[in-house]
Amino acid sequence: MDNKNFETEAIRTQLERSQFQEHSTPMYVTSSFVFEDAEDMRASFTEEKVRNIYSRFSNPNTTEFVEKVIKMEGAEDGYAFATGMAAIYSTFAALLSSGDHIVSARSVFGSTHTLFTKYFPKWNITTSYFDINNPDEIEGLITPSTKILYAESPTNPGVDIIDLELLGEIAKKHNLILIIDNCFATPYIQQPIKFGADLVVHSATKLMDGQGRVLGGVVVGNSDLVREIYLFSRNTGPAMSPFNAWVLSKSLETLAVRVDKHCENALIIAESLQQNSKVSSVKYPFLKSHPQYEIAKKQMKLGGNIIAIDVKGGIEAGRKFLNSIKMCSLSANLGDTRTIVTHPASTTHSKLSEEERLSAGITPGLVRISVGLENINDILQDINQALNS
Ligand SMILES: *Cc1c(COP(=O)(O)O)cnc(C)c1O
Repeated sequence: MDNKNFETEAIRTQLERSQFQEHSTPMYVTSSFVFEDAEDMRASFTEEKVRNIYSRFSNPNTTEFVEKVIKMEGAEDGYAFATGMAAIYSTFAALLSSGDHIVSARSVFGSTHTLFTKYFPKWNITTSYFDINNPDEIEGLITPSTKILYAESPTNPGVDIIDLELLGEIAKKHNLILIIDNCFATPYIQQPIKFGADLVVHSATKLMDGQGRVLGGVVVGNSDLVREIYLFSRNTGPAMSPFNAWVLSKSLETLAVRVDKHCENALIIAESLQQNSKVSSVKYPFLKSHPQYEIAKKQMKLGGNIIAIDVKGGIEAGRKFLNSIKMCSLSANLGDTRTIVTHPASTTHSKLSEEERLSAGITPGLVRISVGLENINDILQDINQALNS
């Protein structure tokens, strides 16, 4: 198919029909595939023939899912993983050697931080952090061993934004591989490859599935780099299951309409909370008060579905807010149809010191709202009654 618009590609990128002429792609729940004869099998293993061999390497459903993400991100190639963390871990593990160095934003997903600080040092792979709000620090951290520049934008849970074009320029100048975790934006809102990213990683568990059902991860980008990641993964086994790929490929068909509505709801809530006297600050990329509003407008089509608010009264006020919530969910997930509220200081980030939390943008009263698709009036009513109680 020639390149079509985003929504059309998401819906019309499909596997070839089987002899049954099905309209919707069936599920290929099979661990392996069969060969005609010895020659067919030989040529398949040497990759003279491009075909499915074993579902740890590839499977029709994972191929369909990956093809969609490749088109959405404007990438050359990709590979799908069981989880977002499998995608992130395998990407680093495939591309780095002992002695290599990573320069990363400090505010990264919790498990990514654990990779950098607990596991990679075991293999003599070190990481230096820069402050997401101070990209001037980046070049001073780059050494001859630096291989990868890494960031998320918007960040979790502080909803900070970094200039992807600037990161692209720095990576190019210093010959680094720029990897962006694009999970919070989705390719519908932001396409980091346009700004110079070599690879884009996703937790498909979040807005891509969007309904809180399955875990998944994907990496897309430069085909030589993806080839390395594919070979690593085909031998180490973090592959996405065909069932999850089937679910996620269907999910992508509705990504655009879902994300449009998520963002519409989120902007209304963010604007409303700015007027609320129980809240000392509201951070949302498409509010003019966001410190990087201009950059957000430059690189994002919409503001996303995550709002960070600071509830007046610190840790206790944050906990009280969660306890007063009636409809929204208290859950570790995000990007679900259901609105989810979390209080990082007393939960996901409680093991960090106050100083570490603040340096990652987590104030004591910070509440993260992952805005869902319920009726806007019902979401607002629940949040307002919890703030007023
Ligand atoms: C959830 C998340 C991950 C990890 O994804 P899993 O699918 O849970 O393994 C990585 N990065 C970001 C930004 C996330 O939100």
